[in-house]
Amino acid sequence: MIKQNYHTHTSRCGHAIGKDEEYVQEAISFGLNELGFSDHIMLPDHPQPGIRGDYALLPDYISSIESLREKYKERIKIYLGFEAEALPYYFPYYQRLLDEGHIQYLICGNHCEIDKDNNLKWYFSKFTTADDIKRYTKSLVKGIKTGLFAIVAHPDYYMGSYTKWDQTCIDCAKQIIRAAKKYNVHLEFNFGAIRGNKKIIGDELRYGYPVKQFWELAKKMKAKICIGIDAHSPLDISNDANDNGYKMALDLGLKLDQKVNVVWNKEKKCYEK
Ligand SMILES: [Zn+2]
Ligand SMILES: [Zn+2]
Repeated sequence: MIKQNYHTHTSRCGHAIGKDEEYVQEAISFGLNELGFSDHIMLPDHPQPGIRGDYALLPDYISSIESLREKYKERIKIYLGFEAEALPYYFPYYQRLLDEGHIQYLICGNHCEIDKDNNLKWYFSKFTTADDIKRYTKSLVKGIKTGLFAIVAHPDYYMGSYTKWDQTCIDCAKQIIRAAKKYNVHLEFNFGAIRGNKKIIGDELRYGYPVKQFWELAKKMKAKICIGIDAHSPLDISNDANDNGYKMALDLGLKLDQKVNVVWNKEKKCYEK
């Protein structure tokens, strides 16, 4: 059923396991025809050990995936990208990586912001407030508007610890979905949390994300939707629990685009869709 995945990490980030080649081999034996690597982006001025690879690992990441692309080109199409936060400070860096052809695409996974002390800080914790999710949304929308991202990874990430689906959540969802539509960016229905256990969040037992209400809105507003395995281990690709995520999306009546164009056009400076 699942033929493409553009959300794949590597051990460089410090919390994923396995060799790059094992991800490719697993994808081939599972029957994927496209695999996109999108490890947590390495940032020159903000190291985050255990969360993203050190900036010094950038050349190795690029050369490793490029050589796998060549080695397996008869069997699978491999893309090279990053999962990156919507950090305005780094937008010129992101643009350069794309324009100079070092990578082909970016997906926006907005986990952290730069705080007033110039440190990277998580948006959410067990004390997530309405202000936190509003800041997340504002920043994410800004990221979408740059046109640098082909996909928004887990757009409903803000519900991971927020305890109720209230008017703030609805407003945030609408802003994100509206921007994604306007800028022709896919929203990713992410399977990462579905491979874990449901959690008690507020008075509900559910996955942190995907959150049903968000996706009902996305469907109603006719957003473009794709799936993302968010692999942190080669075996995540073939994990049976991904089928539960797929089924959840189909039960919600979502139309899933399997193939997404994740190739940045350097001349036109956009992803042609
Ligand atoms: Zn990760
Ligand atoms: Zn990810």
